[in-house]
Amino acid sequence: DNGLSEADPEVRAIIEMEKERQFKSLELIASENFTYRAVMEAVGSCLTNKYSEGLPGKRYYGGNEHIDELETLCQKRALDAFHLDGKKWGVNVQPLSGSPANFEVYTAVLKPHDRLMGLDLSHGGHLSHGFMTPKRRVSGTSIYFESMSYRLNESTGLVDYDKLEEMADRFKPKLIIAGASAYPRDFDYPRMRKIADAVGAFLMMDMAHISGLVAASVLANPFDYCDIVTTTTHKSLRGPRGGMIFFKKDPVLGVDLESAINNAVFPGLQGGPHNHTIGGLAVCLKYAQSPEFKAYQNKVVSNCRALASRLTELGYKLVSGGSDNHLVLVDLRPLGIDGARVEKILDKASITLNKNSVPGDKSAVVPGGIRIGSPAMTTRGFTEKDFIAVADYIHEGVQIAIDAKRAVSGSKLQDFMKFVASPEFSLKDRVLD
Ligand code: PLP
Repeated sequence: DNGLSEADPEVRAIIEMEKERQFKSLELIASENFTYRAVMEAVGSCLTNKYSEGLPGKRYYGGNEHIDELETLCQKRALDAFHLDGKKWGVNVQPLSGSPANFEVYTAVLKPHDRLMGLDLSHGGHLSHGFMTPKRRVSGTSIYFESMSYRLNESTGLVDYDKLEEMADRFKPKLIIAGASAYPRDFDYPRMRKIADAVGAFLMMDMAHISGLVAASVLANPFDYCDIVTTTTHKSLRGPRGGMIFFKKDPVLGVDLESAINNAVFPGLQGGPHNHTIGGLAVCLKYAQSPEFKAYQNKVVSNCRALASRLTELGYKLVSGGSDNHLVLVDLRPLGIDGARVEKILDKASITLNKNSVPGDKSAVVPGGIRIGSPAMTTRGFTEKDFIAVADYIHEGVQIAIDAKRAVSGSKLQDFMKFVASPEFSLKDRVLD
């Protein structure tokens, strides 16, 4: 059997180009990271060949003695990595990714059209937390369940817990979701627990972005207050692309979470587990218990603080005024420029980050901010000094975007994109090249 270069040079070439892009660019997307070589070996292994529907010891296929051992090891490491007592907490390591993991939880604890509350997408929440617009139910979460989003206090940039409490009292959700994709601060779990208890709701934390920081005890521990905790495995945790669901073993609100969640994963919403991913995840969770991992997560935060304070020195407005975690959210609106234009210019200079809504934004296509994360470049060895330089590069990019916007005839984003793609525009005579 041939290797990839012989079997399919076309795909090989694309992989090589992507590898070079990843190697050469400044990767600042807050939800991305570079996983370990050992994780990639496990993900690229023969584990991909095996069907193993069911759970360890209870499979619908034969030949699973090694897969059983692998999944059991992965579950044990997941509980250990998050310092959990296996008598009180269980985990399902089969979710294919973060969005399926969340939907599996909703399927487990809600009936169709039951109510849930998550953080609004435009205020930092995730699509899978119930996103809908006044015209359209966008996410499956809002198609199959009734969603009412809570929001940030626009002047502080912090979750408006008072308003959440007031809304929950009126809406009476059955599930409240903590967690976010673009929130630079930690969550107040005790407060959210109180709000959930007052209305008889389950409390779930989606720690996808910060699970590495939680494992390293750099941020507050959601397990002390939540009934269910979901996560992706490929962000700050630095593992393969996948998901996990942690659940309390004792029944909550009369529901046996263990069987409800396991059944929602399979046969509810998934078929055969991706054993190659589970193999990679087990490897990542071994690393996650090492002193080096803790040191790395501390650096993720200190690097992000260095970035935030340099941006503040340069006059930028940061949502919430700074960061306690791995990301900053920059509000560009006071400068008369938006995240889409800045993202495009920085992309041309191989600085990869993403445009992001900031509180008060009207449009998700041309939002007023950018989100910048520190996990990936910290993996590449960047220090606080390097992140100060990153802030300076971004600053140059913003200036170029402002100049280019002035130089464009026409005010539409399309006009800008055409202009910066044209030979007329070049970064060559500009500093950021
Ligand atoms: N939850 C949060 C908080 C996220 O930020 C994301 C993705 O960025 C997800 C869930 C979804 O994960 P996936 O893209 O793996 O479905």
